[in-house]
Amino acid sequence: MKRTAKSLVVPSMKQEDDVIYLVEHFYSIQGEGKFVGTPSIFFRFGGCNLKCPSFGEYFVKGKKVFGCDSIHAVNKELFHKDWQQIRNVQELIDILQEHTQYLDFKPHVVLTGGEPLLYWKDEIFYTFIEYLVDEGYIVTIETNATILIDFDNFPAYKDVIFAMAVKLSNSGERYEKRVNKEAIATIVTHTAYSFFKFTLSRNLIEMRAYEEIVDIAGNYPEVEVFCMPLGDKVEILRKHDKAVAEFCLLYGFIYSDRLQVRLWNREKMR
Ligand code: SF4
Repeated sequence: MKRTAKSLVVPSMKQEDDVIYLVEHFYSIQGEGKFVGTPSIFFRFGGCNLKCPSFGEYFVKGKKVFGCDSIHAVNKELFHKDWQQIRNVQELIDILQEHTQYLDFKPHVVLTGGEPLLYWKDEIFYTFIEYLVDEGYIVTIETNATILIDFDNFPAYKDVIFAMAVKLSNSGERYEKRVNKEAIATIVTHTAYSFFKFTLSRNLIEMRAYEEIVDIAGNYPEVEVFCMPLGDKVEILRKHDKAVAEFCLLYGFIYSDRLQVRLWNREKMR
């Protein structure tokens, strides 16, 4: 049988594309960036368009893998058991209500990953954003800021804060993959408040961290720049933290620690 373009569409692939994966959710304090210390409900979504292989190495099921401290939300192959399929927005709302039922205030809501904006135009994801905004939650999306958002057709994103954790060369990713200046410009021009958050290591500071940050954030003097040390364990943080603090003092950036690592080290934040 001659295969047409239509017959090449495999139904199960289509379904796979439509699924949102939630890797974990928990109530804790925000450990990084502008809202450090703020009581927050975290929704960690699965999947990322980057791998950041230079950020760390881990042994999983006897296999050495390279990546970030959220590798369980990046590597579906190894961590698929943690990846829960979300099939409608009510599931996310129910989770939110589970966490808030005994609180008499609205905590900050953080959508993180992985890269949560992989789902930016997914109906379930966007409806959840609309719900959160309408209900008066302060919402932060933690993103690598490489994905272009259509704010005109998806206007609820204008009321979201974007923590733009743009990756520098110490991530091990190619420049063309980790920096999308159009995506950054679109976020900055369509939101009332968003900020940059860079992960720095000693080596990068000694070499070219300032130039790399200026290349990415230099056009936006009004946008705050937070710099935090590399490390998902206290011992690693200690290798980089003072150099990052001194770097911030020299250039006027804002130092951000990783409070969750200081408090809980590699344990889960719950
Ligand atoms: S962009 Fe973020 S979540 Fe994705 S691999 Fe890099 S550090 Fe991990």
